[in-house]
Amino acid sequence: MGANNLVACTTTTGQQYLYEGRDLFARFRETTEEIARLQSKLREGRYSSHRIRRLYRKRTRRRDHAQDALVRDLMERLYAEGVATVYVGDLTDVLSTHWCAEVNEKTHQFWAFRAFIERLSHTAEEYGITVEVRSEANTTRTCPVCGEQDDTDRDGDVFRCLCGHEAHADLCASRTFLEQQAGKEVGSMARPVRLKWDDHCWSEMPHSPERASPNEERTTRSTGNGKLASVGAA
Ligand SMILES: [Zn+2]
Repeated sequence: MGANNLVACTTTTGQQYLYEGRDLFARFRETTEEIARLQSKLREGRYSSHRIRRLYRKRTRRRDHAQDALVRDLMERLYAEGVATVYVGDLTDVLSTHWCAEVNEKTHQFWAFRAFIERLSHTAEEYGITVEVRSEANTTRTCPVCGEQDDTDRDGDVFRCLCGHEAHADLCASRTFLEQQAGKEVGSMARPVRLKWDDHCWSEMPHSPERASPNEERTTRSTGNGKLASVGAA
């Protein structure tokens, strides 16, 4: 669950996907600020204007477009992997407890979490994939290597544990969540696929060597039936 990434996904087939949300959120916020500016200039007794309503519509349309495209891109990838069930972390219990105001804004307004789950479920159905919403309490602070929960630290996108484990925080949490749901370890992972939105489609970003994870080797493993995936959305 991250402030900078829309979705982090791990599969039991050893794939990881990360959909980056920084630019998208920055634009959403720009529009929100413009709306606030226009509202402050309204004449007394007026609460909205043509221009304000248009900005609201534009903001929503842009978000929905990116969300639609994300869900479809992800489902195509999961379908190709043979995934049968997707577990989605339920953010509602996490939100009320330790999330800062900024992240709350991201989740409630921008990401529209409930709408995302609905969209995900509808699209998954087309691919014959089942979606299950589960609590993901503690996944963000649990170390996947040693199981530590209290002495772990998150700094931006980086997760660190006293045992020496260091990883991408959202991908790490997504993996822990999957292991909790699957009831087993998921083994080594291929290099994560990072995706970026360009107003039309989500496309893969080139790998940056300095950000490479320790689990780089690509492994193809047969996991039998019932392949699983976890999706974290923030
Ligand atoms: Zn650890």
